[in-house]
Amino acid sequence: MMKANRLPVEETLDPLDWESTRAAAYRMVDESIDRLAGLRGQPVWQPMPDQVRAFFKQPAPRQPAPLDEIYDELKRNLLPHSMGNIHPRFWAWYMGAGNFTGALAEFLGAIDGSNLGGGDTGAKALELQAVDWLKELLGFPETASGTMTSGGSIANLLCLNVARNAMAGNDVRAEGITSLPQPLRFYASDQAHSCGQKALEILGLGARALHIVPSNAGLAMDIGALEVAISGDRAKGFKPVCVIATAGTTNTGSIDDIEAIERICRRENIWFHVDGCIGALLKLSANHAQLVKGIERADSLALDPHKLMQAPFNTSCALIRNRELHRATFTLHHAYLEEKPRGIGSGEFLADYSLELTRSPMALKVWMMLKQHGSEKFGRLIDQNIAQARYLAGLVRAEPKLELMLEPAINIVCFRHRSPSVDEEATKSLNTEIMLRLQEQGIAAPSDTTIHGKHCLRAAIANHRTKTGDLDLLVEAVLKLGAEILGG
Ligand SMILES: *Cc1c(COP(=O)(O)O)cnc(C)c1O
Repeated sequence: MMKANRLPVEETLDPLDWESTRAAAYRMVDESIDRLAGLRGQPVWQPMPDQVRAFFKQPAPRQPAPLDEIYDELKRNLLPHSMGNIHPRFWAWYMGAGNFTGALAEFLGAIDGSNLGGGDTGAKALELQAVDWLKELLGFPETASGTMTSGGSIANLLCLNVARNAMAGNDVRAEGITSLPQPLRFYASDQAHSCGQKALEILGLGARALHIVPSNAGLAMDIGALEVAISGDRAKGFKPVCVIATAGTTNTGSIDDIEAIERICRRENIWFHVDGCIGALLKLSANHAQLVKGIERADSLALDPHKLMQAPFNTSCALIRNRELHRATFTLHHAYLEEKPRGIGSGEFLADYSLELTRSPMALKVWMMLKQHGSEKFGRLIDQNIAQARYLAGLVRAEPKLELMLEPAINIVCFRHRSPSVDEEATKSLNTEIMLRLQEQGIAAPSDTTIHGKHCLRAAIANHRTKTGDLDLLVEAVLKLGAEILGG
């Protein structure tokens, strides 16, 4: 009989000395807490010096280094150069600020290590529960299905994939889009997020499958124009299949008329999708839930707990009203993934509801945060951000040198410094320079946009750390920089 030889040396990634690892890990936790506690006194962002850029160009390490030293390198090179969205005065684009409990959840999830593609695990049960909680809090029916995704763009893609397959008129999974009986048309306003178009490109339908509907003066979809677009497309032989309603646009936070869009979808037999990456979580607020009334009846809904709910990133969710259609879009089992009645791989595969197979327990962040604070706290924080936006709008209105572009619909304030010149280009370069100096001097981080052809600064207050004093500081700094630039 052959006798196998044991290996003479067997290595592992586990430390030989757990105690020094423990000490290094405690230091990382301690200093992370110090950092979060002292954020307001730190610059929002700082430009990256050449030596830091050079550090990130070093070749791949072939030999080991102690964890402590690696962490020290990160302290010098990575930590001072974060984006700044954890800071109380970050209001650029539209992001959440993260939170410590969410970060702990990320860590605990990685230690647990479960693969959320499937398996009979606590992590899967927890994700299903977190998705059920989101359904419940948003008013979605219990029978709906949902999946966590890395971001809202992917959540929208999953939803639109289900919509395409459900509405195509053929077995699009088997036959592909070249066999579609009629070209499909989707509808979204000119304020809709770019991820809708990208999704249609990925789904093989092309950007022209998205019929862009003009928005009205309040920057919500023009409902009359939607009806014209649908009937015009039918007359041309296209098949209208889905309206993408935006509950909270990225530019200004305006909310499409959800109930009017739903009525049109039902009458026309069109899939009713809501991009709620910004607005869906308004449902957590007793005071503002009515702004997005009707999203609970959507055929599909994309939402982003890593925005208004402040979860660390890669925490998004797609909800689909019809579980069978959802599953029919994504289920596929090859030999290595046979379903089993018992054991580790038993129960439904979460991958049957997503493009993603292996993924982390993203829902743990939402789960722990909801447990610790309760959903009402998140509702109050949303109300607080909306009240802060109104406060900032008030400061802007009271200051003759500043111009409010429109009343904030929710928590996004668009405004600009007036320029002595009536020329739009001159006003744009003044405001761009103000914005860049605010960022480069680490004072505050607004971003910018263009509304009805007018360039402006934009503060999206989706930040649980912001206080009204931070907004006073923003306005003071904008005026000071404006005077500096115009004077010099
Ligand atoms: C942010 C956003 C998205 C994209 O979400 P990500 O999480 O950034 O991928 C989609 N739609 C709207 C309205 C958004 O604001």
